[in-house]
Amino acid sequence: MSKTAPKKTSKELISIVIPCYNEQEVIRTCHTKVVEAIENLPYGFEIIYINDGSRDKTLEILREINAEDKRARILNLSRNFGKEAAMTAGIDACKGEALIILDADLQDPPVLIPKMIKIWKEQDVDVVYGQRVEREGETWLKKATASAFYRVINHISAVSIPRNTGDFRLMNRRAIEALKKLREHHRFMKGLFAWIGYKQAALQYNREPRAAGTTKWNYWKLSNFAMEGITSFSIVPLRIATLVGFLISLLAFGYGTFILLKTLFFGRDLPGYASLMVMITFLSGIQLLTIGILGEYIGRIFGETKNRPLYFIEEEL
Ligand code: UDP
Ligand code: MG
Repeated sequence: MSKTAPKKTSKELISIVIPCYNEQEVIRTCHTKVVEAIENLPYGFEIIYINDGSRDKTLEILREINAEDKRARILNLSRNFGKEAAMTAGIDACKGEALIILDADLQDPPVLIPKMIKIWKEQDVDVVYGQRVEREGETWLKKATASAFYRVINHISAVSIPRNTGDFRLMNRRAIEALKKLREHHRFMKGLFAWIGYKQAALQYNREPRAAGTTKWNYWKLSNFAMEGITSFSIVPLRIATLVGFLISLLAFGYGTFILLKTLFFGRDLPGYASLMVMITFLSGIQLLTIGILGEYIGRIFGETKNRPLYFIEEEL
């Protein structure tokens, strides 16, 4: 802004955080696109690439980028910690007045960076989150399951998570500092982003298909992710287990009374194999399910009580 401002002579700094795991095919294009997008903006930029234990040439390419462009920083994690931890490393390390999180595969279009900054400045919000209007290149099944997931989680958790949002977003310093205080190990980021609150605005965009390379997600990971989200932000499953237990006890009491009276008035009749079998299998099913739900929460307690650091940095450039 005004160059005559008394104290701040240098431009306001904005950090861009890009987690990378095996992204050798796209990382160069990604850097070029980001640079194109930010070149004429009146801000200073640092672009932080977090190499999340890539097994391909990602790190070598990042080193080249770092040598060519002084805006590029690299955090090389000691192994693959997962996207959530990689983003957290970037969030912890960023120095900017604002932070933008971007996927390396260009699914979050870098051309939107100026727009995001504009919304941040003009609407004076703390967070500008990207919201997909169309899910191009995704299967019908993925769309359907995603939609079901949002419906469930928004029903049973106290914070409401905006639909069709990912990690692509801008956060100002206040939001960054808030997020940095949440050190939980089971990091369901969408939930954490929503949990901190503050003023948030949406930026609608079309999510492109991956530019190159392959996604690291599969249905097993996605279902774990959904489970993660639900158990991180709600204890409703425990309530449901209690409720189901209560209902079944009630039914059992009714049926027990019925059998007792029947025996008293009409005498014993031995056949009962079918009903016995159905009861036993039904009840053991419910019991195992309930134990499973309990186990989910105990597992989370286990993970949190170890209280390990979220990631280790091997090298910083
Ligand atoms: N990523 C990461 N660590 C991982 C998996 C993914 O840092 O263990 C990064 C990846 O390089 C990309 C972003 O997270 O920049 C999103 O990953 P991906 O495109 O595979 O997920 P999708 O877009 O399919 O949800
Ligand atoms: Mg992707």
